[in-house]
Amino acid sequence: MKNIMRITADGMLQDSDNGIRSARSIQFIASPNCDERPEGTTITLLVIHNISLPPGEFGGNGVTELFTNRLQPEKHPYYATISGLKVSSHFFIRRDGETMQFVPCSLRAWHAGLSCWRNRTRCNDFSIGIELEGSDDTPFTDAQYTVLAALTQCLRAQYPIADIVGHNHIAPERKTDPGPYFSWRAYAELVGTKACMTQYADQPYITFRHAIT
Ligand SMILES: [Zn+2]
Repeated sequence: MKNIMRITADGMLQDSDNGIRSARSIQFIASPNCDERPEGTTITLLVIHNISLPPGEFGGNGVTELFTNRLQPEKHPYYATISGLKVSSHFFIRRDGETMQFVPCSLRAWHAGLSCWRNRTRCNDFSIGIELEGSDDTPFTDAQYTVLAALTQCLRAQYPIADIVGHNHIAPERKTDPGPYFSWRAYAELVGTKACMTQYADQPYITFRHAIT
């Protein structure tokens, strides 16, 4: 599949290489849950998550509502426990591969929380967050891997991404996503030859450090 997605200089994903937005255009829904990255920050990290709202249910608007502070606590018992959260991610990839953007990559999305990677805390500062619609006990779809890999290639063309990790890597005591059903091997193979699968605390992740000199 030809990768016709690209990231603009201001960090917006477009799915056309000729500037004409097609019917498949990436939907941008602005989340208020973002702010400026610290001055001079280079984006070097990609963080993969899973999310579904209500948990384990796919296809609804819960994630969009959460990221835009419109989740109605009375709609579901779980919503009542999270409705005050101010969170976001840059991207959300649905089960059928449909991709939504909530925060321009140039800005800091609020997806990582308390976090640390390679002795550096506050991973939101220097990362891009991608949420896959899913859960810790469901395999992800082929369409999601295809789109995720294409998006990763676009992001690498714009930013010097050195590592791709799961939320579990950067917040191991709090988070388990993207979970045991996420295939780092399948993802690495789709991303390409420079994507090297390695391990941290027995958890696989992807690094490009050997290719960056
Ligand atoms: Zn997460």
